[in-house]
Amino acid sequence: MLQIQNYLNGQLVPPLTSRYLDNVEPATGQVYGLIPDSGPDDVAAAVAAAEAALPAWRALSAEDRGRLLVRIADLIDANLERLAEAESRDNGKPLSLARVMDIPRAASNFHFFGTAAGHFATEAHVQDGVAVNYTVRHPVGVVGCISPWNLPLYLFTWKIAPALAVGCCVVAKPSEITPATAFLLSELCIEAGLPAGVLNIIHGNGPNCGQAIVEHPGIKAISFTGGTATGRHLARTAAPMFKKLSLELGGKNPNIIFADCDLATAVRTSIRSSFANQGQICLCGSRLFIERPIYEQFKAEFLQQLAEQRVGDPQEASTTQGALVSEAHLHKVLAYIELAKEEGGRLLAGGQRVQVPGRCAEGYFLAPTVFENLPFDCRTNQEEIFGPVVTLTPFDTEEEVLSMANSTDYGLSATLWTRDIQRAHRVAHALHSGIVWINTWLHRDLRTPFGGMKNSGVGREGGLEALRFFTEAQNVCVKL
Ligand code: NAD
Repeated sequence: MLQIQNYLNGQLVPPLTSRYLDNVEPATGQVYGLIPDSGPDDVAAAVAAAEAALPAWRALSAEDRGRLLVRIADLIDANLERLAEAESRDNGKPLSLARVMDIPRAASNFHFFGTAAGHFATEAHVQDGVAVNYTVRHPVGVVGCISPWNLPLYLFTWKIAPALAVGCCVVAKPSEITPATAFLLSELCIEAGLPAGVLNIIHGNGPNCGQAIVEHPGIKAISFTGGTATGRHLARTAAPMFKKLSLELGGKNPNIIFADCDLATAVRTSIRSSFANQGQICLCGSRLFIERPIYEQFKAEFLQQLAEQRVGDPQEASTTQGALVSEAHLHKVLAYIELAKEEGGRLLAGGQRVQVPGRCAEGYFLAPTVFENLPFDCRTNQEEIFGPVVTLTPFDTEEEVLSMANSTDYGLSATLWTRDIQRAHRVAHALHSGIVWINTWLHRDLRTPFGGMKNSGVGREGGLEALRFFTEAQNVCVKL
């Protein structure tokens, strides 16, 4: 039984509540570990530790802080296999995916921000012969980082690394559904020699532990990734306290395929963008709009490649689709499949639970599911499902597809496929999405702004945006 502990003031400790939650392995449906069910007292202790560590941490040079972060990155790399196994077991994702995506990206996050801090310059504004203004960027102080279950270590470190890099101390909470790699990270931080209290990882559920982080007056900024409803609740709590807020929320991303595209690449990539991580990536394209002349051909090739997907034990090398993250989430996605049928959807593939024999007989597996014949404005096409369920919709004109693509309350990412360079840019600029990929998907450069429009969030992560978020700008004006 894996018994997770909180990482508090440099030590691994049990929660002050002495309560634990069950940790379930999604591929087997069995409890395999215990997670601290921490409460406000644990959070208060973490904030006190972070406040005590803050003066020395912010006084270190960016280079010295960066050196420690790069050491953590190296330790993540050195423990790749162990971390990938833990991530796959905790989340249900294929081990092969955790090995090439989640864990290498977590190392990159520490490496990128560890080195970026040394290149983070402030601005100066000179009024000739009159005055010089320059901007000092102070670390905000103690900050809270709260992350979801879909890319556990990847998103957790994406927040923590820039905060630490600029000199903030952190109280962080991973999702209670996938806490294992955050716990292993605490061990690696101890091994790397990160000073006590600089990073505190407190485990627990949203209402008790997360809420206490958001409410604590000692926490000056919150970086949150999760659902839109949670983000709304969190903003309601934090805004009257004038905390800085970065919210990365849900999506319902369009994937637009024009008739002049490179069809083979568009189909192959669309299989990934629809079903990677069982469709549980906020950037997955769940609404596929296909220009009518190639609609039937795209559909045939898409369904043919879909048939090659293998739903099964996440540990098997041949598995491309693992388990959904929890029983509750499986039932939520199944309910959307029923809704899609009620709304008149024609089921082209999947639609049902998959029984995987052997140790995974009780696991939360779902066949990748494809519908067509659904209006663009029905609930299935408007609400975030966050599972392996996509819809295919034909379109005739650029105006029509833009109005359908932009019709949801969300605006996180969009993908479009065309060889017409002018159209590519024109359509990209007209899409209400914070991120647009042209002829590719999930191609990431950590320097670029990352985040969504509309109900997909507030603020941007990545590169300088993240470093700015965790700092307070102070302008100093000198009369000449
Ligand atoms: P969630 O909102 O249920 O939980 C996210 C985190 O918030 C968890 O750690 C949870 O414990 C915590 N939490 C819950 N209630 C809280 C409260 N009252 N106060 C403070 N913290 C609280 O989301 P989830 O189900 O874990 O993740 C799936 C969602 O995340 C999807 O909507 C997905 O689109 C979104 N997501 C967005 C991005 C992005 O970058 N925009 C990336 C990944 C996932």
